[in-house]
Formats: sequence, C-alpha cells, structure tokens
Amino acid sequence: MAAKLQAPRGTFDVLPEDGERRTALRESADALLGLAGYAPFETPVFEDTEVFARGVGQSTDIVQKEMFTFEDKGGRSLTLRPEGTAGACRAYVEHGMHKLPQPVKLRYWGPFFRHEAPQAGRYRQFNQIGAEALGSDDPSLDAELILLLAELLEEAEVDCRLRLSSLGNADTRAAYGEELRTYLRSRQDQLSDDVRGRIDANPLRAFDSDHAGTKAVMVEAPLLLDRLDSEDAEHFAEVRAFLDDAEQEYDLDPTLVRGLDYYTRTVFEFESPALGAQSGVGGGGRYDGLVAQLGGPATPGVGWAAGIERILLAGSPGGELALPVAYVAVTDADQRRTAFKITEALRGQGVQAQMEQAGRSMKGQLKHADRLNATHVVVVGEQIEVKDMDTGEQRPVADINELLTRVAL
Ligand code: AMP
Repeated sequence: MAAKLQAPRGTFDVLPEDGERRTALRESADALLGLAGYAPFETPVFEDTEVFARGVGQSTDIVQKEMFTFEDKGGRSLTLRPEGTAGACRAYVEHGMHKLPQPVKLRYWGPFFRHEAPQAGRYRQFNQIGAEALGSDDPSLDAELILLLAELLEEAEVDCRLRLSSLGNADTRAAYGEELRTYLRSRQDQLSDDVRGRIDANPLRAFDSDHAGTKAVMVEAPLLLDRLDSEDAEHFAEVRAFLDDAEQEYDLDPTLVRGLDYYTRTVFEFESPALGAQSGVGGGGRYDGLVAQLGGPATPGVGWAAGIERILLAGSPGGELALPVAYVAVTDADQRRTAFKITEALRGQGVQAQMEQAGRSMKGQLKHADRLNATHVVVVGEQIEVKDMDTGEQRPVADINELLTRVAL
C-alpha cells in the first residue's frame, strides 16, 4: 500500500475555522496600517541567495543554518525568504523608490521559511505581517510603527509586553563589539562552547544565551546602551518621548538582541507569556545601513514583522460578527429553484445565506442551521415561512420583500 501523504514537517494546513480567524486578523491589520499610510506591497517568496546573505548577515543563525536554499535549472542560487525586510529593500532599490516622496511606507502579509526544529509556535513555513518605512530617520516613524504593532496586538487580544532598546550606529557598535569581545575573552572559561566559538563573529549573541555560566558573565558585561553617541542617544530619547506621550508602556532592555544583523538604533520586541518558549510575537527596529548594503543609495529605514500563527495562538482576533445568518431549508424538492433564488436575493442584501445542499430531512436541516449559528431559517415549501431562531417563532411571509426585511433586520 502507498505511504500515507502528509504535509511536510514543520508545515500546516489552514482549515476553515482558522481561515476565518486569519481573515479577521488580516482585515484588522489592513485597516490599521492603511490608516497610517502603509500601502500593500509584495515581493517574491524566493530571492537571489545574495539578498539574504548580504542583508540578514553571514554570522546569523538564519543565514548559517536556517535557509531553504536551492539551485534553479539555470544554476542560480535561490533562497525561500526567511524574512521580509531584505527583499523590501532590494525592491526599493530595484524600482528606484528613493525618487518617490519619502518616507515610502509599505505593508505586507505572506509566507516565510526557516529550517528550524519545529515545536509549538515554531514552523518551517510560517506567515508574517510586516510594515516598513523607508527613506527617513525621523524618530516619530520608530514610535509610530511600535504603536501600530501594539494596537494590532491589542485588537487581536494578545496579552504582551514590549521590550525596547537602541543599538546605536555601525561605528559605536563596532567599538562596543571590540570592548565586549575583550570582556568575553577575559571570562571565556565560563562561557558555553557555542558563545565562545562566536566571540569573533557575533559577540552580541552572548546576551541571548540560556547557558547558566554565560548568563552569569553577561550580568556584568558592558552595555551598548551606555555607549551610544550623542546623536543616537538623542534619537532614542525622542522615540521614547513619543511613546511616553502615547502612554505606551515598555521595558527598557539593554540586552535585547535581535537575530538579524542589520539593525541600528531602535530595536524592539513584543513578547507574550501565553506562548511559552516561543514568546516572540513580533519585533523589529531601525536598519539605516541595509539599503546601502544591498547596493542602493544611503537610505534609513525602520520596520517590524509579527508572526500570524503566534498572534492566533496567543490572542483571539475579530469578535463574533453580529450580522444575520440565514439558512434556507427546503421541504419540497420541487421548490429548490425558488430556494436558490431566495438565497441569492438574501446575499444581495448582505445577509450571509446558505441553502440546503446535502439532501437532509427537515429535522436534519434545522440541526444544521443551528450548527451554522443561523439567526433565521427560511422554510421553502408550498408557502414560504421564516423562523426566528432566537424566539423560535415561525410565520409565513407574503412576498420576497417581507422576507428580506424580516431576515435582514
Ligand atoms: P523575527 O524577524 O525573527 O523576529 O520574526 C518576527 C516574528 O515572526 C516573530 O516574532 C514570530 O512571531 C514570527 N516567527 C519567526 N520565526 C518563526 C517560526 N519559525 N515559526 C513561526 N513564527 C515565527
């Protein structure tokens, strides 16, 4: 017998009930980001591998271990996108978007791919909603984006906390990197093998470690937030002032390290305790060097991405719709064409309507109407009656107009 076919490891099917919740989330995100001027935008799900190698950074886990990379028939190295910002910047350069009025504000929604060990809330194909603002380093953009994500999560009823920090600019970071390397080397016998092996490549990742010895070393480590130059410190102070004015709460967390190399200045992450080990719901920051790194003109940028599955796991987007739902029951097979027309007419009035399409008995039809949470059942037989599912009352209607008014109100 042939082996049973299943969705590949780390992937999942979206079944109808979940599909409804995703649609509700998407609608609320589109409305929220649209109001702030973030326009819908898409890039391909695969890019030249170089986009991520250069953009995300060679020393990151994503590039070193997690990319789905393959050769196409022409021998080009392609990679399924592990994140959205590098592709957005590639597109910004390719389409000369620096010539548009700045900032260019973009929003996206779609699948991303990382070859990680699957567990609850962590998949190999997952979906993100993201927003990016390119072409301005105004701190109000950092604050605006943080507040938009906070609002999105609040609307989706995700209980979470915001961690916030600043990484400064490339020079400060390089100088601080040296200081941190020297510090880590001085205590390297206490570090995990993994962290010790990456002192040269990426010392910041030591703050991410769960290893007890490393954690103890990091408590006394020098902090980048104490080394910011005056411009970056001023920028960060302005971001914080906007957030304070909006009464947005956050934890200032100088140890916040994101798993991508391109960040400069502001970085932030929303975490939900409801999610357990995979607590990151969404995060982002400023990436003022990324466009130039991908071959474009020097262009500042800031943005975030949030995991759709994690939002759905931690929250409950989209309350119950209070719209009427009609079920059109048929007692006499000769009346099916009438029932079909009534169903169409109800939909034309904005009523969610379905007719009997599986040959059920009248009793079975009423049971099914209940399952669908119908507010009304239209019973189509020799005469047409409407049953109000709330009161249980069932009365005949004189004509289609009366039917539509009784169901739609
Ligand atoms: P990152 O850019 O890595 O911070 O990812 C942004 C968001 O995407 C995270 O906060 C998660 O919500 C989500 N995410 C990242 N990786 C995965 C994954 N493997 N499975 C599910 N969601 C993910």
